[in-house]
Amino acid sequence: MAPAKIVIIGGGFAGVECARYLERRVRPDEAFIQLVSPDAGLLYLPLLPQVASGTLNPRSVSVSLRRVLRRTEIVPGMVIGVDHDTRRVVVRRSPGRELALDYDHLVLAPGSITRVLDVPGLQEHGFGMKTLPEAMYLRDHVLRQLDVAALRGGLQEDRERLNFVTIGAGYAGTETAAVLNKVCKAAAERFFPEIEAGMVRWHLVTHGDRIMPELGERLGAEAKRILAERGIELIVGTSAAEVTANGVKLTNGRFIPSRTVLWTAGVTPSPLAAHLGAETVKGRIVAEADLSVPGLEGVWAMGDAAAVPDVAEGDDKVCAPTAQHAMRQGRHMGKNLLATLRGGRPEPYRHPDLGMVVDLGGRDALARPLGIGLRGVPAQFVARGYHLMALRTAVARARVAFDWTVHGLSGDDFLRIGYGDYKTHTIGGFEQSGCYLRADEVPRVLKGLGDPD
Ligand SMILES: Cc1cc2nc3c(=O)[nH]c(=O)nc-3n(C[C@H](O)[C@H](O)[C@H](O)COP(=O)(O)OP(=O)(O)OC[C@H]3O[C@@H](n4cnc5c(N)ncnc54)[C@H](O)[C@@H]3O)c2cc1C
Repeated sequence: MAPAKIVIIGGGFAGVECARYLERRVRPDEAFIQLVSPDAGLLYLPLLPQVASGTLNPRSVSVSLRRVLRRTEIVPGMVIGVDHDTRRVVVRRSPGRELALDYDHLVLAPGSITRVLDVPGLQEHGFGMKTLPEAMYLRDHVLRQLDVAALRGGLQEDRERLNFVTIGAGYAGTETAAVLNKVCKAAAERFFPEIEAGMVRWHLVTHGDRIMPELGERLGAEAKRILAERGIELIVGTSAAEVTANGVKLTNGRFIPSRTVLWTAGVTPSPLAAHLGAETVKGRIVAEADLSVPGLEGVWAMGDAAAVPDVAEGDDKVCAPTAQHAMRQGRHMGKNLLATLRGGRPEPYRHPDLGMVVDLGGRDALARPLGIGLRGVPAQFVARGYHLMALRTAVARARVAFDWTVHGLSGDDFLRIGYGDYKTHTIGGFEQSGCYLRADEVPRVLKGLGDPD
C-alpha cells in the first residue's frame, strides 16, 4: 500500500508539534507528511513583546522549521483553497504561481489573525502585534517618536508623539504596553534629557474592567498595581470609536492625542476556516473532541482556528486560543492520526489548564503555574524556564538565553533599524529613492521652514 498523504496547513505551534510527533512515530511507508507554511520558521508569539522592547533579537524568536523537522516536506506558500471532493488543496507560492497537493488526511492549523473591528481609521492608522515585522515596526516607530519629540516639536505635537495608546488588555496588549513604556522611560532618562519622564504617557484601554482575566483576581490586581506604579493609565469600560493620524476617540467620548495606537483587542481565526464549508462558531472550525471535523472525513482541525471542546473544563466550553492548547493539540493530533492509520480509534483531547506566565519587563513578572500565584523574580524564573523549554531547538534556546543575558548586562541602546521611515516595501521604498526634492522645490520648502533655531 502507498503511504497515506498527510497535509498539515500552518507551521505554528499546533502544526509543527503535530509534524514532529508524526516524524518520530510514523514509519515512512505509513505516511508521507507535508507542511504548508508561508514562513520558514515557527514564530514563538509569546516572546513577540520582547522583540518590540528590544530584549530579544527578531531571529531568536523564530524557530527554523527545517531544523525542527527532518522528514516532513516543507511547502512554502499559503493554502488559498480546499476541495474536499477531490481531496486537493491549492497552495499559492506567489501570485500567479499555484500548485495542488493531494491528501488523505488534511490537518488544519492556520492559527488566527488580528480581529480588526469596523472602527473608522483603524485599518489605516492602527498598529498590530501578531507578526515579527509588526513587532519590529512598532519598536522603530515608538523610538522614532522619542527622537523627533526630543529634537523639536511644539507642545501639542510632543504631546501627541509621547502619548501611546494600546487598545486591548489581554496578554499581548498588556505585556507590550508594559515593556514599551519601560523602554520609553529608560530612553528618555538616558539619551533624551529634553524629554521629562512624566511627558511619556502610555494608556491601556479595555472594554471590561480587568486586565489579563486568565491570571485570576489576585494576580490581575497585582498586574494593575505594577502598571499604575509605572505610570500607565488603565482606562476601563471603553474601546476605540475612531482612529485618526493624530489620535484615538474612545467610545466614552474621550479623545487621546497620539501617533501610536496599538490594537490588540482580540484575534479571529484565519480566513481559511470559512472556506471549507465546515460548521464554524465565532469563525473557528467546529471540531469534535478527538479533533476531527464532523461531516468531512479525513479532515482535522486544531489550534486557534478550531473550536475544540474543552473536556477538562466542561461540556459547553471550547479551548481558549493559547499556545499551551495549540502545542498539546498538535501532539494529540499526531497520536490520533497514528491511531487512525493503524486502524485504531482516535481519543478525545483533554488538557487541564497549567496556568500562564506574563513578563512585564525588568523584574516584574507574574505566573500561575498549576494554580500557584507567583510574582517578581520567582515568576520570572518560571516564565523564562517555560519559554526555554517550549522553544523546540537547542539553537533557539541558546539564542534567546544569550539575548536575555546580554540585555540584562548591557541594557538597551534604543537603536532603530529604520523600518518606521519607509513607506512601502518596494526597492524604492526601502532605499527611499523617491524622498528627494527637485532643485526648484528646495527654496520653496526652505522658505516654509522659517529661520533655523
Ligand atoms: C503577542 C502575542 C503574545 C501571546 N502570548 C501568549 C502567551 O503568553 N501564552 C499563550 O498560551 N499564548 C499566547 N499567545 C497566543 C498563542 O501564540 C496562540 O494561541 C498560538 O500561536 C496558536 O497556535 P496555532 O498553531 O493555532 O497558530 P499559530 O502559531 O499562529 O500558527 C499558524 C501558522 O499558520 C500559518 N498560516 C496561516 N494561514 C495559512 C494558510 N492559509 N496556509 C498556510 N499556512 C498558513 C501562519 O503563517 C502560521 O505559521 C500570544 C499571541 C500573541 C499574538
